[in-house]
Amino acid sequence: GGTLVMQVRVAMLGDHHVLLLAEDRTEARRLEAIRRDFVVNISHELKTPVGALALLSETVQDAADDPDAVRRFAGRMQTEAARLAALVQEVIQLSRLQVADPLVAATTIALTDVVHEAADRSRTTATGKGIEIDVGPVPRGAVVLGSHDLLVTAVRNLLDNAVAYSEPGTRVAVGTTLRPEADAVEVAVVDQGIGIPTEAQPRLFERFYRVDPARSRDTGGTGLGLSIVKHVVADHGGEVSVWSQLGHGSTFTVRLPLAPDALATTAPAAPTG
Ligand code: ADP
Repeated sequence: GGTLVMQVRVAMLGDHHVLLLAEDRTEARRLEAIRRDFVVNISHELKTPVGALALLSETVQDAADDPDAVRRFAGRMQTEAARLAALVQEVIQLSRLQVADPLVAATTIALTDVVHEAADRSRTTATGKGIEIDVGPVPRGAVVLGSHDLLVTAVRNLLDNAVAYSEPGTRVAVGTTLRPEADAVEVAVVDQGIGIPTEAQPRLFERFYRVDPARSRDTGGTGLGLSIVKHVVADHGGEVSVWSQLGHGSTFTVRLPLAPDALATTAPAAPTG
């Protein structure tokens, strides 16, 4: 909840009439606050790897005649550089979202393309880790309005997380289900991974939130992935939810409104005219 902020403009119409234009600025103020917070947070987040890199490069110089130490420090520099790269990549994704007007760019998107492209991209990492990604059948009527690239980004972030927080030899499944009664479609990403404690679940979609930074440090994550998912899904008029049991796995479900007429494509040809 917050205060309603109105912007009022006054125009004179002739000598005796005044026109008052009142515009609701609440949403603009809220976005501005989010942007400000984000700049503060990201500056803080970027400082850590940059500081570590500066320190490590000094240490490497000092250790020049100890090859083992050089190798060790160089490895840590690689980790920090990868984290920096991941942060920058996600900042770019987020800034695209904030300037994009999703309604302007909306086109008809078949979710089968989105789901398969996202799975193909995540498979490289998954296969390397001995995790299989199974894509279930995608109903023909699973069609939404929006941006193909943004939706691939969202599903891919969920898949990358499922892979990152699972053990080798487990499976990740993607299921797509029509919910005709709600004019919606759901894409569920199911893993058999480490799971998420109940008390952490409400905070997952906040920027930079990580359940256990120590535990997830080696995944190279940034804590931005799920906030990107939430933004993309919200921009498409949908929502994302989580179900998880610690030690057993997690399911992230994205629910999106179907494009108008989406279901007509699965129904037998209707008489026209
Ligand atoms: P990160 O870059 O750290 O993965 P995210 O915003 O994508 O950031 O996720 C936030 C946190 O939620 C992660 O750090 C992790 O602790 C937890 N998390 C996300 N997805 C899963 C999952 N499939 N299984 C277990 N934990 C998860």
